[in-house]
Amino acid sequence: MLVSNIEMFSPSSLSECLTYLSQSSKKHKLIAGGTDAAVRMKEGKWRPEIWINIKNLKELRYIEEKDGCIHIGPLTTHTDILRSDLLKRKADVLVEAAREVGATQMQNMGTIGGNIGTASPAGDTIPALYVLGALIEISSLNTKRLVPIEQFFIGPGRTILRENEMITGILIQPQHPNEIGIFQKLGPRKAQSISIVNVAISLKMIEGKHCHGGKIAFGSVGPAIIRAKKCESLLSQGPLTEELIQNIAKVAWKEVLPITDGRATALYRRDMASALLERGLYRLLRRWENR
Ligand SMILES: Cc1cc2nc3c(=O)[nH]c(=O)nc-3n(C[C@H](O)[C@H](O)[C@H](O)COP(=O)(O)OP(=O)(O)OC[C@H]3O[C@@H](n4cnc5c(N)ncnc54)[C@H](O)[C@@H]3O)c2cc1C
Repeated sequence: MLVSNIEMFSPSSLSECLTYLSQSSKKHKLIAGGTDAAVRMKEGKWRPEIWINIKNLKELRYIEEKDGCIHIGPLTTHTDILRSDLLKRKADVLVEAAREVGATQMQNMGTIGGNIGTASPAGDTIPALYVLGALIEISSLNTKRLVPIEQFFIGPGRTILRENEMITGILIQPQHPNEIGIFQKLGPRKAQSISIVNVAISLKMIEGKHCHGGKIAFGSVGPAIIRAKKCESLLSQGPLTEELIQNIAKVAWKEVLPITDGRATALYRRDMASALLERGLYRLLRRWENR
């Protein structure tokens, strides 16, 4: 595809963008950092009649705490997340996930809204957003709705977004001082690699090895992100001893639903999901004990 054949509209404000989305009859697609879009465009997989370039909508790039929630603009880059003291203190698992996205170039260009918008089961920030109980703010010209992230995806590459809508915010619950999180990823290489398996864990600790429950979400081992609810139910069944952690890891092996593809076999993914969860729980406990 020749670049000169690509039609692009660059709105100068959010309201101009939403007005365009509500009025245009052309098949369109938003482009933010363009790191996914450029690849899909080159492969001929995404062929809208017009691209809507939102990269310059500065009002969609923010990280702030208000009304008991942390609000993140969809144009916030992975680098912004890595540098945010607020997120380091109150959403450590998201910071760890952002650190695992590609390498520095991808982190500088790629946005959290784009990571969600691509709706890949391997998107690294998505499991982290699951365990942080994220809500996605979806806007059209005249409406705004908040949807739990678990209801946002309807299949690989598919979301509930309507033609006239876009993501305008991501809201997460700040972690309390007794909540700790971790993100673990296995990719084919150290950097610039899409996850073979990833897992985000958030635990509410009480004291010692006792935990008051938590959330576990796996990526790249199913058609969408998988909340490991059977594993989660075991977290508060006693102190997190070696025996309990190994049992939880065994349950994870059964709870994930991987397929075999070019990156790994289903069996390898099951084994690695189980191993990443076990390692993640040990690491979290060590961090908690060293606080
Ligand atoms: C070499 C390479 C390595 C990579 N490594 C990783 C990795 O390790 N982990 C990982 O998770 N990803 C990885 N990616 C994928 C990509 O970098 C990320 O998904 C990134 O966050 C996408 O953000 P973007 O702003 O570039 O999205 P874009 O490419 O601009 O857009 C992606 C999709 O999101 C939609 N979109 C963007 N913003 C909005 C919005 N506000 N509302 C609604 N829809 C929106 C677009 O329409 C499009 O469908 C990699 C990509 C490359 C090329």
